[in-house]
Amino acid sequence: MPIKTLSHIEFARLSAPRENYALRKPETIERMYLDFDGFFASVEQQADRRLRGRPVGVVPFDGTDRTCVIACSREAKAFGVKNVMPVAEARQLCPDIVLVPQKPDLYRRAHNALLSEIQSVIPIDAVKSIDELTCCLDGDGRRDPQELAARLKTTLADNVGTVITSSVGFAANRQLAKMACKEGKRAGAIYGNGVMIWRPEDLPAPLFGLKLSDIPGVGENMERRLIRSGVYTTVVRRVGCQVLCRGRETGPRGHRIEAQGKHLPRR
Ligand SMILES: [Mg+2]
Repeated sequence: MPIKTLSHIEFARLSAPRENYALRKPETIERMYLDFDGFFASVEQQADRRLRGRPVGVVPFDGTDRTCVIACSREAKAFGVKNVMPVAEARQLCPDIVLVPQKPDLYRRAHNALLSEIQSVIPIDAVKSIDELTCCLDGDGRRDPQELAARLKTTLADNVGTVITSSVGFAANRQLAKMACKEGKRAGAIYGNGVMIWRPEDLPAPLFGLKLSDIPGVGENMERRLIRSGVYTTVVRRVGCQVLCRGRETGPRGHRIEAQGKHLPRR
């Protein structure tokens, strides 16, 4: 039988005092999650004013309809166009869609400019992708997240442009802040430019209206497996969590979702 050895990190973790294992229950919002709205398409609209106010679809390359729309503007979204939709389908839904070949260099420069403006307002904790990032909140941010969101949005509008908008979510941890951010995006009369604050005392009520696939990490396959396991809703109370992590159907991801649920108050 092979001998198992522990790495330094594992050894430190296992020999740490037992209380370090206890999940801390946050008393207030601690994280902010920011996601730019229709990033590639809005950068295109910011760079070329002829595209503003028009349904725009960004495609990998020019000259063929046998490809997909990889990003679309809010005007295109209003017609039902979605990211990663075949061009032929997008044209059916929105005959006036303007297809623009992608310009990675333009998006990279916009990303760098936006990040440097955000850093002037609040330190960035982690950049999650070209258009998503997360920040830890200091005392002022925890007290008045609305003011922080407004200051961020004004700084970005004044120094980069008004066409590239973002949605911001605040919650006790990064996972919940990401979900709040997504909800904020959909909450207004028009898509995007949202602010959503989920304080620990407000939970779990805002989660009840979500679909399973609104939980980060739950894609189509995981959703199918959860439904097969008898989990149909996002009611992740403690009992729900036990269902989520039980059995072989959900696998290790189920345990991660369970860990997220442990931040919720017991009701
Ligand atoms: Mg985005």
